Amino acid sequence: MANSKTYLITGGAGFIGSYLCEALLKEGHNVLAIDNLATGKFENINQLIENPKFQFIRGNILNTSVMDRLASQSDIIIHLAADVGVQLIIKHPVHTIENNIKGTEVVLKNTLRYGCKTIIASTSEVYGKGSSIPFKVMDNVILGSTLKSRWSYAASKMIDEFLGLAYHTEFSSDVTSIRLFNTVGHRQISRYGMVIPKFIEQSLSNKPITVFGNGEQSRCFCDVRDVVRAIVSLSHRIDIAGKLYNIGSTKEITINKLAHLVKKLTNSK
Ligand code: UDP
Repeated sequence: MANSKTYLITGGAGFIGSYLCEALLKEGHNVLAIDNLATGKFENINQLIENPKFQFIRGNILNTSVMDRLASQSDIIIHLAADVGVQLIIKHPVHTIENNIKGTEVVLKNTLRYGCKTIIASTSEVYGKGSSIPFKVMDNVILGSTLKSRWSYAASKMIDEFLGLAYHTEFSSDVTSIRLFNTVGHRQISRYGMVIPKFIEQSLSNKPITVFGNGEQSRCFCDVRDVVRAIVSLSHRIDIAGKLYNIGSTKEITINKLAHLVKKLTNSK
């Protein structure tokens, strides 16, 4: 393939990362995937290991010599590795805040050193308490008190966005951030509290479905394959540096309706 590029995917064995690696290999690119397998799983990428264009490195993105070597071989970095989910940050706040910010620092230093194009994954959590729909990247942001540790996840991702955009402004680095909304698909696990796999698991074992609050809060769930299609097509564009994108579905469902849907589709009691 004439336009074949080398991509470095951090968090490549994660739920979204593994689909991304697959899509890029399908387009004929070379893929280097690094993952410490803390939340990612080797099974997610097992089917890719035989592909000569794929290389998996089990390692930590804070390991600067490994990251330096990988970035030096790459044209494009897609930085997905992070401690994800509000549940995890409440349990391990120091580790999560430090990891999310330091990891992005390491990535961006290499972006600058090797002139890679870089896409940094952020999160819709950054919209905080925002309620004007649809969420726009120019919206003002209201987060909760710093006494509530859950907000540190959004804040750490905001710092990542700021840092990426700062590299663009100050050093003309080719950096873009993407705010990922609720994503769903195979390989997503319930362990970190994600609602759909959790409801399905509860439903299949005929346990009560745990709807939080009054259940009238709503979310838009996007198929992971569509999310990945958006990321890949952004990575091909030459006009995205210094910009910020939302990636998600626009089809809304309340959590109550979702619970009923899961119950029905799984034929649960
Ligand atoms: N939720 C729920 N029961 C659960 C897990 C989640 O009612 O067991 C709700 C949660 O309160 C939220 C929605 O489902 O309103 C989506 O939760 P998730 O953690 O998947 O994503 P996020 O809140 O980050 O959008």
